[in-house]
Amino acid sequence: MCGIVAVSGNPEAARLTYLGLYSLQHRGQEAAGIATFDSSTGTSSRVREAGLVSDVFTEDKLDKLRGATAVGHIRYSTAGGAGLKNAQPIREISRSGHLALVHNGNLTNFHAIRDRLLDEGALFQSTIDSEVIVHLIARSRDITPDARIADALAQLEGAYCILATVNDTLYAARDPYGYRPLVIGALPGGGLILASETCALDIVKATYIRDVEPGELIRIRDGEIESVACLQPYVPEPQPCIFELVYFARPDSRLWGYTVDRARRAFGRKLAQEQRADGDIVISVPDSANSAAVGYSEASGIPFELGLIRNHYVGRTFITPTQTGRDFKVRMKFSPVHEVLSGKRVVVVDDSLVRGTTSRALVHMLRDAGAAEVHFRLASPPVRWPCFYGIDMPTKEELIASRMTIEEMREFLEVDSLGYLSPEGMIDCVRENGESYCTACFTGDYRAPLVDAQEGFAMSSHC
Ligand code: SF4
Repeated sequence: MCGIVAVSGNPEAARLTYLGLYSLQHRGQEAAGIATFDSSTGTSSRVREAGLVSDVFTEDKLDKLRGATAVGHIRYSTAGGAGLKNAQPIREISRSGHLALVHNGNLTNFHAIRDRLLDEGALFQSTIDSEVIVHLIARSRDITPDARIADALAQLEGAYCILATVNDTLYAARDPYGYRPLVIGALPGGGLILASETCALDIVKATYIRDVEPGELIRIRDGEIESVACLQPYVPEPQPCIFELVYFARPDSRLWGYTVDRARRAFGRKLAQEQRADGDIVISVPDSANSAAVGYSEASGIPFELGLIRNHYVGRTFITPTQTGRDFKVRMKFSPVHEVLSGKRVVVVDDSLVRGTTSRALVHMLRDAGAAEVHFRLASPPVRWPCFYGIDMPTKEELIASRMTIEEMREFLEVDSLGYLSPEGMIDCVRENGESYCTACFTGDYRAPLVDAQEGFAMSSHC
């Protein structure tokens, strides 16, 4: 749950990266950073601080980030925990020159690599998995930067999208399973931008060129995109994360060939076919379930209403790093519209159910506002397994659907009925071209090996 952006070949690289990060703020709110390289002076600069993008970067700071090459990162609480030392970009002077690197994803052999490197005498400045990538690049015996980076990436397991600069050369890579998204766009003023989602291209009026392919390592220099390596192991069926479509990505982004809004509407329509409820109105849990609720309304014929208003000036509770203040935050975050809800049989559509505590507080709020009945519908299947590929989720024991039956959950939530989209129904909605997806948090089918778990290390579930 992080966002990454890079710009190559544009004198406004830092400002364009800033704008890209701004549009990816939903992917993490804990820290933000940008590193640039100025080829006229041969120097690199970096700003990274805790806070939102708009708080971290001032005019003065952006002015100091000179050069036509930049990488940027926004961070959610990652493997290794909070703290400025764990913020990105990571920046080092390497044999090849000034190296800056950002990473989105979660390595599943992080502890195994880190222990080996520590045994060999490596010193770490942070506790994040991304730092092992920098060490592996620095220690590679290969000659060229291309080969060193490919050598390092070939040793990684799990989920990663990486953007790295070596002086003014930009590298981009996506793991062979393709868990996280990474797209390339052409900037109107010249140069290229790469980002986690297409919404970061839209904000700077860049034109989408293509995705970085699963297992591809790209080098960008002087505006030329060159695919320099195909990373092992070869995976016949990439596994892009379906939860990006369900919840995480912005609805105006285009991912895996689908506009996120279109995918979510399809989930909602299918949910209405599979889990019909007798209601007077359909409402969404805003904002992530808006599209699914519209789809549910279209397919069921039940009118869509705005029954809950979201206060945008607090963070999403799902991605708050600790449990502290969760219930309080629900009331800070949502307000019921009494006139819409009073006396109505309300069908509430949400994208997913994780711990269930937020949803229960919401149901109380709806009943207090006069709802006669509350029928809860989830536009994804029960989340029963943690994610080890970069989406923050609680442990298996904390996931409500791994502990309770549907009826037990219905009682816990205090709703009149509860219904989930089926796994088959979800996949049917986004398989127009035969795509395959990671569905491990719904099915327990983990494809990228969980090396750290196999070797007895505690696995983290974050990016
Ligand atoms: S386990 Fe779930 S959240 Fe994690 S990558 Fe797979 S589909 Fe996405």
